[in-house]
Amino acid sequence: MSVPRVVAVAPGSPAARAGVAEGDEILTVNGEMPRDLIEWRMLVDEPHVVLDIRRGTLAETSLAVDKQAGEPLGVEVHSALFDRVRTCDNHCEFCFIYQLPPGLRRSLYLKDDDYRLSFLYGNFTTLTRFTEADLERVVTEGLSPLYVSIHATDPEVRSELLRNRRGATSLRWLRALLDHGVEVHGQVVVCPGVNDGAVLDDTLAGVLDRYPELASLCIVPLGVSRYNREARMRPHTRSEAEAVVEAVDDWQSVFLSALGRRLVFAGDEYYLLAGRPFPPAETYGDFSMHEDGIGMARAFEAELLLGSRRNVHENARIPSASVHISECGAAMEPAPHDRGGFFRWADGDLSKSVDSEYEPYRTVRSPEQTEQSVQLSPRKDAPVAILTAPYGAQVLEPLVAQLGRPEVRLVPVENRYFGGNIAVSGLMVGEDLQRVLLDQPSGHRYLLPDVCLSQGRFLDGTGPEDLPHPVEVVPTTGAALRDALGLVTS
Ligand code: SF4
Repeated sequence: MSVPRVVAVAPGSPAARAGVAEGDEILTVNGEMPRDLIEWRMLVDEPHVVLDIRRGTLAETSLAVDKQAGEPLGVEVHSALFDRVRTCDNHCEFCFIYQLPPGLRRSLYLKDDDYRLSFLYGNFTTLTRFTEADLERVVTEGLSPLYVSIHATDPEVRSELLRNRRGATSLRWLRALLDHGVEVHGQVVVCPGVNDGAVLDDTLAGVLDRYPELASLCIVPLGVSRYNREARMRPHTRSEAEAVVEAVDDWQSVFLSALGRRLVFAGDEYYLLAGRPFPPAETYGDFSMHEDGIGMARAFEAELLLGSRRNVHENARIPSASVHISECGAAMEPAPHDRGGFFRWADGDLSKSVDSEYEPYRTVRSPEQTEQSVQLSPRKDAPVAILTAPYGAQVLEPLVAQLGRPEVRLVPVENRYFGGNIAVSGLMVGEDLQRVLLDQPSGHRYLLPDVCLSQGRFLDGTGPEDLPHPVEVVPTTGAALRDALGLVTS
C-alpha cells in the first residue's frame, strides 16, 4: 500500500492556499487512508478537509483546507491506485500483451483486470477476479458505468477463450451488476475461426436472452502483431469481416425489434476490412462507444467537414494516456480524445512507468499537454502533411479530398515495429515515423495525432523531438484537425 503523492497543485486552488506542495505525501484525508482515486475523490469532496502529510524528512504535519463542498481541492496525485492493482488471471490467446516486442518498459507487460480501472478509465474487465465485496462496493459507491469483456456467452467457449476455468462462470457477476442497475458496456473481441460465425450468433442470442439490459456491445477484431506465437490467432480475411458486418446488421434488427435499440455495433475497422461504407451517423446514437472504435469515422467526418462538434467527447470516459495494452480488442481510426484511440486493447497506460505501475492513470491527456510537445513549426502557409497509420489514411483520404486543399496530403506510416495487421494510429511509434519522415521534404508542416503519444513519448520510448522534421502534435479529433488546417467554421 502506498500513499498518494502530490505531483501538481493548481495555482490559487484551495490546496495551494493551504500550503500543499508538490512532493507531499498524503498519509490520511480526514483521518482515512484512501485505497484509490475513487475514495480519494470522495474524501476530498468534503468542504473541510484535513490532510496529514509527510514532506521530505520533516515530521508529519496537518494542513486544514476549507472550501466549498464539491469544489476541487486542486491536487493531482501520482496514481489511481494506492493499493495493488488486481492483475488478470486469464491467458487469452489473443492477448496483445503476449504479442509485444521484447524490451519495452516493464510496466507495459502488466495485465490488469481491475473493476476500479474499468470505472475510472473504461478498461474492460473479464470479472474473473470479481468478488461479492467488489459488487457491494460498486453498488454502494455507484461505480457505474463499467466495461465488461464478454467474448462469448457460452461458458465453455468463454473459458476456452480466456484459458481460465473461471471464465465459464464469471458472467454471473455481469448478471448481478445489471440486477443492481449498474450500467455496463460489453465487448466481444472476435478471433476468426474461434468465436465468429455460429459462436458469435450464439453470443448475441445469449446477450438478448440473459443480458438484455447491457447498455451496448461492441464487436471488434483482434489485432495480431508479428510477435504472435498463437497458431490459431490470425487476421480476418475480407469475407470473414463481411460476415461479421452482416451478422451485426442482422442482430441490430433483432435487438431493435425486441428492445427498441440496436445494442450491438461493429467496430469501424470491420467496415474498412470489409470494404463497406460506415453506417450513417444517426445509427450510433450518442456515440457512447466512440472510444471503443465504434462510430469514430463518422464522428471525425462530421467534425472535419461540417465543423460539427458532436458530444462524443463529452461522453468520453476519463482519458488515461494513449495506449493501454491490456484488454485485447481492436479499434479504429481516427481516435477520439481519449485513452484509447484505435486499438481498444491498446488504450491507456502507455506511460506506465517502471517505478510506479499506475502512474499513467493520474493524468488526463489534454490539448495543453499535447501542445507541450509541439516543436518549432514551419510557416503556416507551408504544405501540410498529415501523418497517420494505414487505417487512418483509409478514413482520411476521401475526407481530405473533399477539402479542396491541394497543399494538404496524407503520409501513411506503415507499422513495421509491431508488424502483423497493426495499422492504427494509436500504435504508431517513433522508429516508423523516423523512417517515413526521412523521405519527406523539409519546410512542410507535419501534423501528428496525439493518440500515439503518452506524456510526450511513443511506445518505443522515443519522442517527437527525435524525428527528422518538426511535427505539430494535434489532438486526434476532426475538430482539432479542422482547426490545425485553418478551416473556418460558419
Ligand atoms: S486479453 Fe485481457 S483478460 Fe486476456 S490475458 Fe490479456 S489482459 Fe488478461
